[in-house]
Amino acid sequence: MLHVVPSFSRIGEENAFAVLARAQALAAQGRDIINLGIGQPDMPTPPHVVEAGIKALRDGHHGYTPATGILPLREAISRDILRRHGVEVSPESVMVVPGGKVTMFMAILMFGEPGAEILYPDPGFPIYRSMIEYTGATPVPVPIREENGFAFSAAETLSLITPKTRLLIVNSPANPCGGVSPKSEIDALVKGLADYPDVAVLSDEIYGTMTYDGEVHHSLLTYPEIRDRLIYLDGASKTYAMTGWRLGWSVWPKPLYDNARKLAVNAHSCVNASTQWAGIAALDGTQDCVAEMVAAFDRRRTIVVDGLNALPGISCIVPKGAFYAFPNVSRTGWKAKALASALLDEAGVATIGGPDFGINGEGFIRLSYANSAENIRRALERMKGFLESRT
Ligand code: PLP
Repeated sequence: MLHVVPSFSRIGEENAFAVLARAQALAAQGRDIINLGIGQPDMPTPPHVVEAGIKALRDGHHGYTPATGILPLREAISRDILRRHGVEVSPESVMVVPGGKVTMFMAILMFGEPGAEILYPDPGFPIYRSMIEYTGATPVPVPIREENGFAFSAAETLSLITPKTRLLIVNSPANPCGGVSPKSEIDALVKGLADYPDVAVLSDEIYGTMTYDGEVHHSLLTYPEIRDRLIYLDGASKTYAMTGWRLGWSVWPKPLYDNARKLAVNAHSCVNASTQWAGIAALDGTQDCVAEMVAAFDRRRTIVVDGLNALPGISCIVPKGAFYAFPNVSRTGWKAKALASALLDEAGVATIGGPDFGINGEGFIRLSYANSAENIRRALERMKGFLESRT
């Protein structure tokens, strides 16, 4: 018998990948499936970024790079942070990683151990809880409530901190609810954190370029009071439609940076060299492609929210960021996960049940509107037909 360590029995996963596999299997059987399940832009990577990646390969960038990433990319990331957040960050504190997930993996490994508590948003990205449980730390969900527009409450977050709390994870704009936390709540959180100087903060800002209705994303990097314990997470996956290239980055406080570097040396050595050169083109090139993509998501957001609110038993508040709608389905008479799987099997529409994002996700499903307006309209028609016949 093989003796795999017990921590692997605690590791979770992302149901979005299981739904994707099921949707692909149904499509392979000839079914017409509309996928509103997976969280990735449906647009291709901008052509100038693709060309930069190809050029890097042709120019012979085939070998290892420094584990922390090539300096020109770390400098481009510093410029991006200055341009978007108005904050000076030294390239020496920037770490290039193979996707946003790797930053959260590193941060949770650094602070998670049995007896420690880690606070994370719920509903939230499922990997937070999975990784916390893997380390043996206690996951403490911070409820993200519909009545707050799916923004976190600073008061509620602070009330959950105990002497055992080691790390607080925040995510705005948020997956799966699309909430954007207002500056007043972030101010209140940072002010309250002054009483807990031993609590580190991981700020997942991977959707930071995607806000709507004039909503502004406020980076936690703009608060000097917590810079010595803030881990900033960002990456190219969503902003530049580069999910498959695997390019993320983070900013670390000085005492943690070397731990992150050592984890990189142990785990992946470096990010693919050509991906890193493509990343420079993405960050230093025109940002019109980002504006166009966000404008397209904005148009689809209106279609999806209006369409959902016209469905029997469903109500959906207007998401202010990312590319997800998180409608309340509790009045359909269906449990959320059962509804999501019936929608896939019977109506050919892939969505994700809210409980896949945490205990506070019951009563909701997630739809990604990173799909064409036409497909979104067809999906809503199918959902209407399904709900009218089955509720
Ligand atoms: N953080 C959040 C909130 C996400 O939704 C995702 C991806 O869906 C990630 C991080 C991970 O992104 P990446 O594909 O760059 O690892």
